Amino acid sequence: MREGSLEAPVRHPVDWQNPDFYDEALLDAEMRRVFDVCHGCRRCFNLCDSFPRLFDLVDHAPSEELDTVESKDFVKVVDACTLCDMCFLTKCPYVPPHPFNLDFPHLMLRYRAVQARKHGVPFAVDQMTRTDRNGRVAGKVASLVNWATATGNRLTRRMMEKVADIDAAASLPKFQGRSFVARAADDPPAVNPVGPAAGRKAVFYATCFVNFSNPGIGQAAQSILAHNGVATDVAYPACCGMPQLEQGRIEQVVENAGLVARHFSRWIDQGYDVIALVPSCALMLKFEWLHLVPTDHPDRAAVERLSKATFDIAEYIVDIAQKEGLAPGLRPLEGGVTLHIACHARAQNMGQKAAEMLRLIPKDAEGGRMGPAELKVVERCSGHGGSWGVMKGNFETALKVGKPVASQAVKNAKHYLASECPLAGEHIRQGVERLDPAQAASLEQLHPVEIFARAYGL
Ligand code: SF4
Ligand code: SF4
Repeated sequence: MREGSLEAPVRHPVDWQNPDFYDEALLDAEMRRVFDVCHGCRRCFNLCDSFPRLFDLVDHAPSEELDTVESKDFVKVVDACTLCDMCFLTKCPYVPPHPFNLDFPHLMLRYRAVQARKHGVPFAVDQMTRTDRNGRVAGKVASLVNWATATGNRLTRRMMEKVADIDAAASLPKFQGRSFVARAADDPPAVNPVGPAAGRKAVFYATCFVNFSNPGIGQAAQSILAHNGVATDVAYPACCGMPQLEQGRIEQVVENAGLVARHFSRWIDQGYDVIALVPSCALMLKFEWLHLVPTDHPDRAAVERLSKATFDIAEYIVDIAQKEGLAPGLRPLEGGVTLHIACHARAQNMGQKAAEMLRLIPKDAEGGRMGPAELKVVERCSGHGGSWGVMKGNFETALKVGKPVASQAVKNAKHYLASECPLAGEHIRQGVERLDPAQAASLEQLHPVEIFARAYGL
């Protein structure tokens, strides 16, 4: 729930095709207008590092007002934004329909789009965010790449830090020799013909992370649905474009949106639901593309249909539980869970679906539900922010922003650490490691659907 306003926020399309969008003088004027409102308001002081940086700039300016802050320093504010959307969705009373018309994250996006058009994206960042190519190439030599990118490999990681600006201490995704798509094709789970949700048809959008780095999340989700009678297909036409969005490359995002939406049309035509396995990707399919793909774009209709057909995985399982009831077989799990609700899951405005899902696990043999003692929910930014959080100069900030979440995980002392966002989960684990190495070693870090599959014995 957003503070300070009773009206639901409205998000205007990003006007990226208008030449004024890239006009630096107009951008500067808009940043000064928005930053001045923020300086007077300061509600978002503890959401991320962008706002503290902005308020520091103002407080240290000669007049202690925005008029004496130099425009060249605005980049410090922009650089710290992970595009988590939390200021827009949970704090700001001045978002549309308010006449102040503030959309802080999309202003940060506009600044990056202007910079990307003017200077291009730095080579190393550009290479790192080509997730599809990286996944395909690295998957062929997965053990070598995983060895070279492990944080314990000081030699290679120091070289990567020097050459590519990737912080040597930041954990990076591992790659797998066989993608989720390949595993699902070769070894699909047996579908329970009498499962309660047998009438449903669903296709997974594998997402770059699950497809190339952690197919186990997809296989867990597919097994849960199969146990409940849902036969699923798995498809991965291309990345959702979130890594490119972070770099302000809006045209590339729109291209990917069209490609993915066209690909899924054939399933949607046949009545399939589309399930995204990572919240950032679900957010792109459900909402963000609608703000970016112009209304006269040839793929606009397909993007709109995909938006309506898309579910987040935990949302889908809870939907089955509510409409058809879940198949029996859930058993209590020892040790309890600290569950992080990712910003991009919150931004989908669907409630805490991962928490609702985990509460369906019985806590004891009598069938009581997983109670507050077993499940601790932490709803705060992990600080990670996709490719942003692993860059040198950002990683320490990312750990600082995520420290309250890591502290909660230490305090809760549960066996499982779970986040709907697998990158955030690993980042929080690294935060726990800094605070309490022994506890980090005892934690099992999983996606909530992996924990749910385990409770099913799958
Ligand atoms: S990081 Fe999130 S809360 Fe902070 S400015 Fe960016 S979108 Fe807003
Ligand atoms: S984004 Fe909105 S709520 Fe946050 S500091 Fe600015 S004006 Fe205040």
